[in-house]
Amino acid sequence: MPKHARCLILGAGPAGYTAAIYASRANLAPVLYEGLQPGGQLTTTTEVENFPGYPQGVTGPQLMQEIRAQAERFGTDIRSGVATSVDFSKKPYRVTINGEQEISCDSLIVATGASAKYLGLPDEEKYAGQGVSACATCDGFFYRNRRVAVVGGGDTACEEALYLSSIAEKVYLIVRKPFLRASKVMQERVLSSPKIEVLFEHNTLGLFGENGVEGAHLVFRKGESDEKKVDIAIDGFFLAIGHRPNTDFLKGKVDLNEAGYIVTSGTTSLTNVEGVFAAGDVADPRYRQAITSAGSGCKAAMDAEKYLMEHSL
Ligand SMILES: Cc1cc2nc3c(=O)[nH]c(=O)nc-3n(C[C@H](O)[C@H](O)[C@H](O)COP(=O)(O)OP(=O)(O)OC[C@H]3O[C@@H](n4cnc5c(N)ncnc54)[C@H](O)[C@@H]3O)c2cc1C
Repeated sequence: MPKHARCLILGAGPAGYTAAIYASRANLAPVLYEGLQPGGQLTTTTEVENFPGYPQGVTGPQLMQEIRAQAERFGTDIRSGVATSVDFSKKPYRVTINGEQEISCDSLIVATGASAKYLGLPDEEKYAGQGVSACATCDGFFYRNRRVAVVGGGDTACEEALYLSSIAEKVYLIVRKPFLRASKVMQERVLSSPKIEVLFEHNTLGLFGENGVEGAHLVFRKGESDEKKVDIAIDGFFLAIGHRPNTDFLKGKVDLNEAGYIVTSGTTSLTNVEGVFAAGDVADPRYRQAITSAGSGCKAAMDAEKYLMEHSL
């Protein structure tokens, strides 16, 4: 197995595979490491209805299998393994896989994604894909004229609640604190929406339902003398308490923002380290969609190709 790659790609989601399609067709002979989740986040969902080219929708695993097959068709060398550290102090750069083997590379595309944060309730796993979601843009459409709850008190939670209020019949916003952390404008929009009911000082204890989510058990003012348990009837439970980009192995090696996302330059995939590019959710706290990730994977491969050509690598 070659221990050097002209173009090394970390991540096997829409961003990594798309980068691989472009890089392999540009003759960069890419090597791609899949990490712990070959196919990425979409392998955990059922229907994907907003990826262009599938008028009837497609399951997440099927979509990722097809993008992977397209990358393999042009010769991408896909390998198992997790990048655990990097050394950008001299060229060629070195990436350690699984804490033991090293691979060197002339260019590196990081497409390691971001994971949604969950509350840690066993019911979130039990009802995954059956009413629990961390993406209103992805799944909101399935809750037309139904009742949903959004958990969180920041800007993202308010945005998700407002987005869902244009689709669902009723939206509860479950907020742990007695106030919203979101910007003033966002707060005003949420508080003035007739469809959104903000449940301040509520925590979620669990979910219930025979066929998917039918409701949530909440507690008001947990641990206080006036603590009260309440149930709400809902069909969808949306988490909006943040995401964690998969960048631990890059800390101190490449510029990250305060939330851990890789910082890229303008509309490009360039990071502050020359020859290192970022694509997909790992560098995108804003859109976090399969199609935007695939698009940025394309950009990263084109940026890598240009870099390699300009440096005669
Ligand atoms: C349940 C669910 C449903 C969704 N539904 C939709 C939808 O309907 N439509 C839509 O557009 N979007 C949807 N999304 C969002 C979409 O899945 C993401 O925006 C997209 O997958 C991001 O692609 P990515 O390639 O950046 O990263 P990911 O898909 O997160 O893939 C990251 C890859 O990096 C690998 N990796 C991580 N760390 C390392 C490491 N250290 N070394 C090597 N590899 C590593 C992982 O194994 C994985 O293969 C959904 C997300 C979820 C969770």
